[in-house]
Amino acid sequence: MRVKLAAGNWKMNGTRAALAEIDTLVAAHGDAAIEILICPPATLLAPMAERIGTAKIALGGQTCHPQASGAHTGDISAEMLADAGATHVILGHSERRADHGESDDTVRAQARAALAAGLTCIICVGETEAQRDAANTLDIISGQLAGSIPDLSTGESLIVAYEPVWAIGTGRTPTLDQIGEVHDYIRAELERRFGAGVGRSVRLLYGGSVKPGNAAEIFAVSNVDGALVGGASLKASDFGGIIDAL
Ligand code: 13P
Repeated sequence: MRVKLAAGNWKMNGTRAALAEIDTLVAAHGDAAIEILICPPATLLAPMAERIGTAKIALGGQTCHPQASGAHTGDISAEMLADAGATHVILGHSERRADHGESDDTVRAQARAALAAGLTCIICVGETEAQRDAANTLDIISGQLAGSIPDLSTGESLIVAYEPVWAIGTGRTPTLDQIGEVHDYIRAELERRFGAGVGRSVRLLYGGSVKPGNAAEIFAVSNVDGALVGGASLKASDFGGIIDAL
């Protein structure tokens, strides 16, 4: 049985003033039956870990370098994320792929480093609008899954997030049938590559304009095990609405 997961990606948002949102989240959902994960900017990991204390809210990074340490100005390693209190890391987000030219090979190397540091990887895949219009969605997803996910993955250490690039921050979402088609396809691909045991235990998140108002219908789609939420994860009241929908 896959435990539902509500994951918030704060992206490049939040200073210590935003820790108040965590207090609200802990008070309202600190003992939720589902899993809750917040991926804040790296600067907030340690203070957030302290603020969360023993409540059941996990923390994650938003990327990591393939190396454990070294001369890589401005980068952060998986080990450092773990040291700051993270148990998860988002890898291959389309904003990283676009802004920093991260390829599937890069993402796979990052994932290997994250697994070696004991982190659970949330590997993001998703098509652009042009790719969907050209009916290439499943081919794109297939290539990203094959290229970005390392062989070492297990059902516990891997989560896949389907985030159509055109749905991120736009207020637009695919139809429920379109979400179901891609999630069923990802499930089948994972089972084909890793076998039924691992393939069926990996959680699949949908991401892209998830809000309290559309969360319940999206969560009812087959093979949707939760959400990776951007904008609506920044306020505890919005994110709480999504948690309640799970
Ligand atoms: P929005 O929820 O703001 O569309 O962002 C989705 C996302 O990119 C999460 O990683």
